[in-house]
Amino acid sequence: MQLVPTQEEVVGLLRETGALRDGHFEYPNGLHANEYLQVALAMRSYQHSKTMSVALSRMVRANPEIRALIGELSIVAPGTGGLPVAYGICEALRAHQVYWAERSDGTQPLRFRQYFEMAPGEKVLLVDDILRSGKQLAELKNLVESKGGQVIGLAVIVYQDTPRTIKFDPLPFYYLARLDATYYKDAASCDLCKRGAPVEKVWI
Ligand SMILES: [Zn+2]
Repeated sequence: MQLVPTQEEVVGLLRETGALRDGHFEYPNGLHANEYLQVALAMRSYQHSKTMSVALSRMVRANPEIRALIGELSIVAPGTGGLPVAYGICEALRAHQVYWAERSDGTQPLRFRQYFEMAPGEKVLLVDDILRSGKQLAELKNLVESKGGQVIGLAVIVYQDTPRTIKFDPLPFYYLARLDATYYKDAASCDLCKRGAPVEKVWI
């Protein structure tokens, strides 16, 4: 594998580890899809996680404006899924620090733990394993800005956008692979249901 793996190599790794699955899936919100992705399954292997975060860090470092700020850069994730990516990038870049936000339960807003304070104008790179709707990263961006930080870019392993995905322009945005699954808004409009394919319910 090259220092920055190709889209095919990343997809191959996701398939090989069971992180990317073909089939017929039903999401908790009722959507049906022909593909399911759970990047955490690929991150069980430390070596895979390292390969992907080092690759992503190389793309980030190639940006001269971000490169100039690496010594003071905070790498911040919106939850546990982004943690291996955040630590991997922080190590590879030798950035200043890494931390994450979380929710006290699924319905609460994202927050940082007690006593986390941001320096005024603190430079922040937002990272996660996947960007799908963009809601999670948009909420994290607002949280960082409300604490006085400045988001200077975003990086994720997989970009799986839909026409409704939130855009973060003009911020630089990096990803290793871009995937597009076919989604159906419910069982009634699902081609796979029409063909009688057995459906599997997924948690997230
Ligand atoms: Zn279906």
